[in-house]
Amino acid sequence: MMLPVFNRIYIDKTSENSEVAARVRSLYPSEIIVSIDETDPSLADTLNKKGMMTADEFNDSKKTLLLTTFKGQFFKRCPGATQKKALTCCNYHVLNLGSQCNMNCSYCYLQSYLNSRTSKIFTNIDQALSELKEMADLHPDQPFRVGTGEVIDSLSLDHLTLYSRKLIEFMNQYPKWTLEFKTKSNHVDQFLDLASVGNTVVSWSINPPYIINREEHGTARFDERIEAAKKCRAKGFKVAFHIDPMIWHPEWKENYSFLAEELNREFKPSDVHIISLGTLRFQPEQRHMMRERFGLDSLVTRAEMFASEGNKLRYDATIRSEMFQFMIKKMKSLDPAWNIFLCMETPETWIQAFDKVPMQLPELRSLFKPLPVVRDFQSTT
Ligand code: SF4
Repeated sequence: MMLPVFNRIYIDKTSENSEVAARVRSLYPSEIIVSIDETDPSLADTLNKKGMMTADEFNDSKKTLLLTTFKGQFFKRCPGATQKKALTCCNYHVLNLGSQCNMNCSYCYLQSYLNSRTSKIFTNIDQALSELKEMADLHPDQPFRVGTGEVIDSLSLDHLTLYSRKLIEFMNQYPKWTLEFKTKSNHVDQFLDLASVGNTVVSWSINPPYIINREEHGTARFDERIEAAKKCRAKGFKVAFHIDPMIWHPEWKENYSFLAEELNREFKPSDVHIISLGTLRFQPEQRHMMRERFGLDSLVTRAEMFASEGNKLRYDATIRSEMFQFMIKKMKSLDPAWNIFLCMETPETWIQAFDKVPMQLPELRSLFKPLPVVRDFQSTT
């Protein structure tokens, strides 16, 4: 097993007796592990920082791990849903079991979102599961979708935490709910021996190899992601792909055609729960950090972007629409049964791409049908 590289691992006193702390202690040399009291004021500068981090501080935060307990509410609505006047969003809820990522994509939105100087794993997963249980017992028949990959990759540290195992076993009790892992890693072996009742979706953010090699540093290669997805399919797990963010470059049509053809060659539409499409977007305030960290060779830092919905920079609407229409046409020409939707896009873009909004597309209606508001979930962003 390839372990993620950490130069220092802090364990807060509230996490000392957790299963994750025991596992981390068994896997990493004791010299890099330090027991702390996170509330100690003398550690404030080491652990947290007000405002945005510098590029160096952000890089260091990927190499410093903190095991701690989460003090707030785990279960939240997807950020897109809180901007519902501007964006057309599906019924997605997020469960954050940590923050920061050990991989390094040039466009990563965490660059403008995080201000902790450490990567965090929350060790109180039992509290997260009891929040889920409370909701699931109240609404066992509502088709809630729960994802764990908002501010941390769902699976890239999962061989340290083994949280996937607890989540799959928990969700097996609520077959109408769907659990979605979202990853750019190929770490799936740790849960493949478990049976699923068919409501766990293992999904990959995927791009053509050209983009992965240039912009998604430290992630699993294209062929590794495809192999991991095939392993999951062979064990009866649903798989999904997020072609997101699509990144414009002179050869984008050839490269995204290749991606579509590979997905169509390796999978059947009936194997794949959904394919979502999104184009490059990021917060304006992260542009400077991206330039400092990735230079001007990156297709992301060089891109011409425009202020858009949700205070994000996006490509011009015509380019977005062209990229979506191209990809939808390509996938549908390979097999009309491919199930495709747009992630965090405006109704106008939906209409340009599909000639319809999601509720008018029978195959997507259940994903977008509004659910009863059961609690005022606040998004983290
Ligand atoms: S895998 Fe996701 S969370 Fe990790 S660096 Fe890339 S975009 Fe960010």
